[in-house]
Amino acid sequence: MPTTSFIVPCYNEEDNIERFYLSFAESFNSSPFDWQLIFIDDGSTDGTWKHIEALCHTHDEVEGMQLTRNFGKEAAIWAGLNNTRADIIGIIDADLQQPPSDAMQMCKILVENPEYDCVAAFQKSRLEHGPLKNIKHAFYGIFSKLSGLDALQNASDFRVFRQNVADAILQLPESFRFSKGIFAWIGFNTCPYPYTAADRQAGQSKWSIVGLTKYAIDGMLAFSVTPLRLATVLGLVAAVCAVVYFLIVLVQTLIHGVDVPGYATLISVVLLLGGAQLICMGIMGEYLARTYLQGKQRPIYLVKTAIRSDSPQEPSTN
Ligand code: UDP
Ligand code: MG
Repeated sequence: MPTTSFIVPCYNEEDNIERFYLSFAESFNSSPFDWQLIFIDDGSTDGTWKHIEALCHTHDEVEGMQLTRNFGKEAAIWAGLNNTRADIIGIIDADLQQPPSDAMQMCKILVENPEYDCVAAFQKSRLEHGPLKNIKHAFYGIFSKLSGLDALQNASDFRVFRQNVADAILQLPESFRFSKGIFAWIGFNTCPYPYTAADRQAGQSKWSIVGLTKYAIDGMLAFSVTPLRLATVLGLVAAVCAVVYFLIVLVQTLIHGVDVPGYATLISVVLLLGGAQLICMGIMGEYLARTYLQGKQRPIYLVKTAIRSDSPQEPSTN
């Protein structure tokens, strides 16, 4: 029987843990898989860990790991990947938006098609409409162009993959993690799997517009240095314009003599160039800051308590 281990990042999901477990067990108990769940409590401030602990104590196939604070979903996934080994590894949200029945089908696809290393779920019809959908669409278009990577449109990190894919990801210990980019970067043969996202069962989405924007910028900068080159191009264009403008002014001065007016033009050019320089410095600063933070080589997450099914159920610290 192939073994499967699903990583479930949880942040303030107290009302979803049991629901998720029951739904997952229902789908996988009737499957040919020997399954395991590893819940990663990403510093929840509600009763999430208590619910995970209770499940760990009553079900051998459940493991739990409590991080010392909220490190973000990407860090929680990384924590899971570092602590699980199985024939098939999966990532699934705790809020049941990603149906466990689909997760089971995705595992089946992997078992039946040895040519695939990964099955990535993408949403047939997105829940959101209007501006948010367009912004996300534009983001993935720009991301693909800048990074030269083919990130699957509408794909989430709802995926199942073989251990060799997990091993490849584990070789990328970067601090600024962007799963979609990482999956695109490592390559491997990926099978797209269309699914319909359900409504969140309880609680609220953890993503705000500000959070999403920051995540998008982090993702873009983590996989492309093109913005730095844009700064160079911008500088070159400004320099060429300056030379052309200088020649025009020179010719005008020679023909018409010295012309004092031109204050408005002058001030616009100064402001434009000043703005362009600040933007370029900002872009460089963003990269520099990331290099600085990565240079510290801090761990991506810290564990407060871990409950493993094969080890005594006692707190362990990292
Ligand atoms: N999550 C997490 N850490 C965070 C934010 C979210 O582990 O800092 C988990 C969350 O509990 C859920 C999954 O990541 O299981 C997806 O989060 P959410 O449902 O808020 O995202 P959305 O579905 O709205 O994109
Ligand atoms: Mg969700």
